[in-house]
Amino acid sequence: MYGTGLAKGLLLTLRHFVDSYVDDIRYGFRKYHHSTDNFAVRQGTKTKGVITVQYPDEKVAVPERFRFVPFLIVEDEDHPTRSGKDWCTSCGICAKVCPPQCIWIVRGNDPNTGRPVPEPEAFFIDIDICMNCGFCAEYCPFDAIKMDHDYELASYDRTTHHIHDKERLSKPNSYWRGIAPTRAYEEMLARGTWEHKDAAKEARRGASGARASAPQPAPQAEVAAPAAASEAAPPAEASAPPAPAAEGATPWSEDDAKREERRRKALERKARRAAKRGQ
Ligand code: SF4
Ligand code: SF4
Repeated sequence: MYGTGLAKGLLLTLRHFVDSYVDDIRYGFRKYHHSTDNFAVRQGTKTKGVITVQYPDEKVAVPERFRFVPFLIVEDEDHPTRSGKDWCTSCGICAKVCPPQCIWIVRGNDPNTGRPVPEPEAFFIDIDICMNCGFCAEYCPFDAIKMDHDYELASYDRTTHHIHDKERLSKPNSYWRGIAPTRAYEEMLARGTWEHKDAAKEARRGASGARASAPQPAPQAEVAAPAAASEAAPPAEASAPPAPAAEGATPWSEDDAKREERRRKALERKARRAAKRGQ
């Protein structure tokens, strides 16, 4: 019959309209208290009706995999050996894979020898051209470029403010671990360390060099003081899986441990299946 679709649509709109007020009453107008919990409920799947997010006072939390413009990871200020150091090695892969070609990198040179060094002297991204595809972050072999959650980038001057330089792009590693703890954890598992690949390699090399150059202890001393020997030559960074880090140093939690346990079991199952197939 003509007009039934229209009537159904209007009824649906009316229902949403009424639901908005019913929902307000059900929550006792708690939405006006700017509590994160109440807001999360209002923004969740159980809420009904039409609601308005009072932006900028209220902001809908973005999911972990949300991506806006890229940023570069630098080492935390309190890092014992690499404070403030770039994770980027200026290999140029991100600039090559970027579809609209909006990344420019200038490789650094050693001032004494003039030879190139693995860190960028300058790094620019034109965020007006960037289409937030995330390819740069996917392809970076050093986990040095990541997609940010900060979408409030409007400015009055688009000619200069929208070309982000290295200073603007650089954010500490702890920021990345804060906005994307699961991704950071998965990357750590793949790398086998919370540290930068090169730093971990250097640490391993240093540790093995120290072990090689250390005087060989007498056999009786080895037996007498095994703890002292292990103190003198600390083991290199574990490859995989890594041990949980000290509290505060990494976002390691009980969930991380469970996830690691699940991963280990899945790998065991995979190995068993492969062995069966091989029989
Ligand atoms: S791919 Fe990664 S390491 Fe290479 S230049 Fe880009 S950000 Fe730097
Ligand atoms: S997100 Fe995509 S478009 Fe933007 S800089 Fe990275 S590769 Fe280029």
